Amino acid sequence: MEFDYDLFVIGAGSGGVRASRIAAGFGARVAVAEEFRVGGTCVIRGCVPKKLLVYASHFAEDFEMAKGFGWTVGETSFDWKTLISRKDAEIDRLNGLYIKTLEGAGVEIINGRAVVTGPNSVSLGGREITAKTILVATGGWPHMPDVPGIEHAITSNEAFHLDEQPKRIVVVGGGYIAVEFAGIFRGMGSDVTLLYRGEQIMRGFDDDLRDRLTIEMQRKGIDVRTGTNVTGIEKLDTGVHLTLTDGSTMEADAVMYATGRVPNTSGLGLEAAEVELGKGGAVKVDAFGKTNVDSIYAVGDVTDRVQLTPVAIKEGHAFALTVFGGTPTSPAHDAIPTAVFSQPPIGTVGLSESDAKEKYGDIDVYTSDFRPMKHTLGGSDERAFTKMIVDKSTGKVVGAHMIGVDAAEIIQGIGIAVKAGLTKAQFDATVAVHPSSAEEFVLMRTPRDN
Ligand code: NDP
Repeated sequence: MEFDYDLFVIGAGSGGVRASRIAAGFGARVAVAEEFRVGGTCVIRGCVPKKLLVYASHFAEDFEMAKGFGWTVGETSFDWKTLISRKDAEIDRLNGLYIKTLEGAGVEIINGRAVVTGPNSVSLGGREITAKTILVATGGWPHMPDVPGIEHAITSNEAFHLDEQPKRIVVVGGGYIAVEFAGIFRGMGSDVTLLYRGEQIMRGFDDDLRDRLTIEMQRKGIDVRTGTNVTGIEKLDTGVHLTLTDGSTMEADAVMYATGRVPNTSGLGLEAAEVELGKGGAVKVDAFGKTNVDSIYAVGDVTDRVQLTPVAIKEGHAFALTVFGGTPTSPAHDAIPTAVFSQPPIGTVGLSESDAKEKYGDIDVYTSDFRPMKHTLGGSDERAFTKMIVDKSTGKVVGAHMIGVDAAEIIQGIGIAVKAGLTKAQFDATVAVHPSSAEEFVLMRTPRDN
């Protein structure tokens, strides 16, 4: 049978774009359908605009610190509208670059929502299109719990486009997005309350990092309330009125939910092709991204394995190599370095102390707690903390963690070493870069008493 395309990709986000481009490079006839904007969550309403906002919010602290270095900083002020419009212009530029890259690779971009109608067919705008292979790369969408009045809450999607900076904002959730946005708004001078239902924010991260992030966020004036959730939201002329689980109430200009993201599979027609879905509607795939239907694959957040852009990109690339490049490639999901752009940021790779203990039993833990040099004259009390977990039987570093200035930049290099399975002795044999915060990773000599 002759198909319209060799590959039809649904979703032009990080995973879909990479898969399309690489497959086209192998000579495949590729089309990608996108219902919003080419670039997907990360570029349009995620990692990229978020990081621009993180940069913007840090200046208040930088101006303060500059005084300690002899600078006289004049009166400063911050204009939300300027930031948002400049950020939007940059996102437009990147969106254009993504489109150009796809077109340059010979990929046809189709604007619209595609729905799967069978193992080799999709429908789009009333048109039936056939393809030898279909790749589902539709990503995820913010999950909002069922709370009365939830329609008055925003998510990170809307936070990027608010007309005004909320002077008082409540952030619900204790994961990546919650702590990042709490830091952003606080840096810009908003009163920020973070409500987390559990005992300690950032579940899944190393406990020491979780403790320290809480302390540093509180030091910056964020009201972190654990063991607390929202039971009801009412709209006021001036914002929102919240009722909390402890019976107390509070008012704010906005309430933002950062309570996880769910796979974007609803109404996608996957049932028509009998594609098996798992928990929360995630597309079930094998190690190569293949679903239970031979002609349908999925990559990225829609599979709900590791919700990170670089992972989706690796999965998209591996898919293209496997199906169109003649090289079956299964992307590894171990030792994935990741950063949280909280303030201060977190960088982490490998296992937390508790996970390492469970997996290896006998471990050594090395820690270092220090005041970054910039903060001595800068006058900030913010501290940095590094931690390494070593499997005693092999000497291998199985976890490396940091919270502090530049943690995201530092952990990328450390990630290579952990991924390569290097030992603590090999870290120790490496000469330190001095003076830096990164050098702690080669200078920690005495294991902590367990
Ligand atoms: P996360 O899964 O990181 O965190 C969700 C948070 O919401 C958790 O603290 C969770 O609590 C809480 N929560 C879940 N359901 C409810 C509920 N019904 N009521 C109250 N609280 C609730 O999700 P995010 O939305 O922060 O981010 C989604 C994903 O996007 C992340 O997992 C991450 O992979 C990715 N991301 C990565 C970034 C980066 O690389 N820097 C930046 C932003 C996002 P509990 O712990 O109790 O389950």
